[in-house]
Amino acid sequence: MLPPGHYKRQDYMAGRREILVVGNWKMNGLAATGKALAQDIRSHVEKKIAAKVVICPPSPLLNLIGPLLKGSAIGLGAQDCHMEQSGAFTGDVSAEILKDAGCGYVIVGHSERRLGHGESSYVVCQKAQAALAQGIIPILCVGETEKERESGKQKQAVASQLMASLPDDVSAKDFVLAYEPVWAIGTGKVATIEDIKIMHGYIKSLLADIRGWQPEQIRTIYGGSVKQEGARDILLCPAVDGVLVGGASLKAQEFCAIIDAAS
Ligand code: PEP
Repeated sequence: MLPPGHYKRQDYMAGRREILVVGNWKMNGLAATGKALAQDIRSHVEKKIAAKVVICPPSPLLNLIGPLLKGSAIGLGAQDCHMEQSGAFTGDVSAEILKDAGCGYVIVGHSERRLGHGESSYVVCQKAQAALAQGIIPILCVGETEKERESGKQKQAVASQLMASLPDDVSAKDFVLAYEPVWAIGTGKVATIEDIKIMHGYIKSLLADIRGWQPEQIRTIYGGSVKQEGARDILLCPAVDGVLVGGASLKAQEFCAIIDAAS
């Protein structure tokens, strides 16, 4: 396995993907506020577009926000999907429904689903597969808990989630891996730059090792209390290909400042 410091930004500038900035609105936003936020982001992105921006509103807003993004470079994403295509699954939304609503991305395995809804990595893998079958890019989240971090088991925790959640037949270009330490989500505690470098380097090394991909083919983004201050330092980490932003994606000015940092 390659050491974490192996990956240098310049190593994969050639043919490199854009930096990804994903906004996860979680269970926030009504029709009026969601539309206003999406419009503000669109106006900003139209000025400078060196990063790929994706916004993930709550499901009932997808059909409202989707048309507002048409013709822009902003991608539409959902926050979760069911593993089945259709059927008697009250309250759930399938990847097929998301595709029909115009989604190009879906978050799967967010810790708020893994921990709050008891979703196992097996379930996350099925959801990722359902998304892939619809041509939707899964943004697959992994991350250690505070207890795992304190006992020095962060790599083990991430590796076991990763191995069990990532579909066997996926190719590197078809998914995004979000490293989100659970203790950093919504807490205001951001992982240190050193930890971010180590964990992203580790994830890329692991995937390169087990799947035979080149590190530059693998997209890994960081999530956990990303704010406008500090975003640039995170994005300058060699193996970080973007950020997944929760709370700060709800304020246009703050989210746009993060987009600027990525640009
Ligand atoms: C998230 O929802 O994935 C997230 C990282 O949230 P926050 O930025 O609020 O920590």
